[in-house]
Amino acid sequence: MPPRPRKRFGQNFLHDQHVLGRIIAAAEVAQGDHLLEIGPGPGALTDRLLALDVPIVAIEVDRDLGAALQQRQAENLTVVIGDVLKTDLTPLLTDPPYKLIANLPYNISSQVLFKVLAQRKLFGRLVLMFQKEVGDRLIAGPATRDYGILSVLMQTWYEIERVVRVPPGAFHPPPKVESVVLCMNPLLQPRVEIVDEALHRQLVRGAFAQRRKTLRNSLIGYGWQPEQVDQGFAQAEIDPGRRGETLTIEEFGCLANVLEPITPQGK
Ligand code: SAM
Repeated sequence: MPPRPRKRFGQNFLHDQHVLGRIIAAAEVAQGDHLLEIGPGPGALTDRLLALDVPIVAIEVDRDLGAALQQRQAENLTVVIGDVLKTDLTPLLTDPPYKLIANLPYNISSQVLFKVLAQRKLFGRLVLMFQKEVGDRLIAGPATRDYGILSVLMQTWYEIERVVRVPPGAFHPPPKVESVVLCMNPLLQPRVEIVDEALHRQLVRGAFAQRRKTLRNSLIGYGWQPEQVDQGFAQAEIDPGRRGETLTIEEFGCLANVLEPITPQGK
């Protein structure tokens, strides 16, 4: 009997063979690769990956599904039962870089990306399924409605391509939304070198905190002092009257590299 999907774990099991094939093709798995799968579920994608004969670490939060995969005792498969967001990946991923391949549950996809960004050295290519709207945001460019925090942070370090759109009928049960698979390749050099990544993240969050305000007012509202902001704009040669959403990836980097950190009395 196929397992009954559990809504609370975001379980929409992929059964469309064409989509599975496109995910596998985009991953371009070669001998010597190491793979991480998040949320293997009943294993439709895992089975395809196992056929490629490379080591796979799979992290599954659902105990029953995780145990079923463990019982298979597949030679190349290490199944970890747990929540990927609470799992320390460093001791598990001992042969980096890992290609991350996953049909992610929609409710944790942004958090997974933040986790990947924080531990970029552990990862090579990422081939991931997203809700279409999230995928649109990840590939969006400046001055568009979809451009946001994750667009800037991911595009600073990754080249992102759309692999395939996925209709609800590709899953059981069908989700209410369209999906898309994206392939993200780490850039050899980031689009702009970032001196202080925590400050860069803070700047990007601050810039999008109040999208309708000017960047200057948005950053002041976020906790920077007016004189710090003005000095940063002058050094980076960025017009403070622009909205944050118009800054390119490179401009965000340049500004982050000259901006003073928020002073302690601020946020
Ligand atoms: N890979 C399978 C497929 O393609 O059919 C299942 C995909 S389903 C969209 C998402 C999977 O992630 C489910 O098996 C679910 O139990 C698991 N999952 C949900 N939250 C998780 C978490 N925080 N950590 C690890 N796995 C999680």
